[in-house]
Amino acid sequence: MSAIPESAPRKVFLETYGCQMNVADSELVGGVLHRHGYLRTQDPAQADVLLLNTCAIREHAEERVLGRLSELLQYKHARPSVQLGLLGCMASHLREHLLDRAPYLDVIVGPDGYRDLPSLLADGVDPRVDVRLDRDETYSDLTPDHGPGPRAWLTVMRGCDKFCTFCVVPFTRGRERSLPPDAVVAQVEAAVAAGKREVVFLGQTVNAYRADGVDFGGLLRRAAAVDGLDRIRFTSPHPSEVSDAMIAALADEPKVMPYLHLPLQSASDPVLEAMARDYTIAQYRALLGRVRDAVPGIAVSTDIIVGFPGETEEDFRATADFLEEARYDFAYQFKYSPREGTRAYKIPDTVSEAEKGRRLRQLIERQEEISLEVNQSQVGREVEVMVEGPARRPPDHVVGKTQSFKTTVFRDVGAKPGERVRVRVDSAGAHTLRATPV
Ligand code: SF4
Repeated sequence: MSAIPESAPRKVFLETYGCQMNVADSELVGGVLHRHGYLRTQDPAQADVLLLNTCAIREHAEERVLGRLSELLQYKHARPSVQLGLLGCMASHLREHLLDRAPYLDVIVGPDGYRDLPSLLADGVDPRVDVRLDRDETYSDLTPDHGPGPRAWLTVMRGCDKFCTFCVVPFTRGRERSLPPDAVVAQVEAAVAAGKREVVFLGQTVNAYRADGVDFGGLLRRAAAVDGLDRIRFTSPHPSEVSDAMIAALADEPKVMPYLHLPLQSASDPVLEAMARDYTIAQYRALLGRVRDAVPGIAVSTDIIVGFPGETEEDFRATADFLEEARYDFAYQFKYSPREGTRAYKIPDTVSEAEKGRRLRQLIERQEEISLEVNQSQVGREVEVMVEGPARRPPDHVVGKTQSFKTTVFRDVGAKPGERVRVRVDSAGAHTLRATPV
């Protein structure tokens, strides 16, 4: 075990994999370490502590992290005092087994152990593993170190009680628990004071939020009352947790962006049942209709999994047909990948990789066309864009998001990140709008 220098501030390099919850968790870890005197560095060669905040949602993500760990090992070889740590869902998923693959790890910490990270790093025992799941930990008293830009990601609830049969998250992040609404409002106020103009409420099933008698619709209203905040967005809601109060907040609270991610996964009832998704396609269809009636023009995106065990050609066609009907603004689409520890892991995979690939390509190609058509319907409209920063191209252009979360590029007219500019949409691709300031 190498000695930790007492004097100079220690530098930490922190790399994040996976979903926005992990991005927010890394900001939390950054805040915890900052308060214990650590400085952040973007250069692993300069770091005393190298941390990877990981994702376990698919095997491929885990393999990438293991590859990255072996790359980072060179810094430990060069300077044995360097500590190498693995955080996040992969820590909860693989636990001590990680040491079979990466015996050089100094710390292994799951999503509920970040509060103790400084003491684990300072502790003398090697390696240090903290992967217990905590029914109460919400980190509500800790302030995250938000990254640059006008947007702050705020985790308002943690964990998941849904146990979809394909998903490892309830096992890696534990049971649902929500931050008290006062703590959320305090975090929104702190983000605004730090110059943020948009907050994104995060949770694995964010609309299952419930604390101190406040539900998710109520939380949106409480946050909207914060002066200086312009926009509120949230991800990911679960269809069976969408309430009238939530739809009403989307409909009549101007700060709540008219954009909803509504994961579908499949449009076949037998597959939805096998996935334990808690809704039928008829219920999902009715919900989508209610949302669109209440919020005309709302942008809607979704998640779809193809090739779940038992998915027949007929089941797949039901999903492909629903894509035509729903006309999502965009969709995240994946091939089913078995994850050890889930209920679906025990169901034999009935769809070949080649067939999963064919189904996925077909859906992606069709959704690209639909996204293009939906975006082209915006051409000629005036919309409000919140500037995020310089566009990658063309030169002298900036990029931002419309209220309905569409990426929009337009000529730089001197607006700073966080400022809102009215533009007219000139043209549209499947992923980006081009516009002119008006
Ligand atoms: S709702 Fe389902 S897919 Fe989402 S995190 Fe929970 S178990 Fe996973």
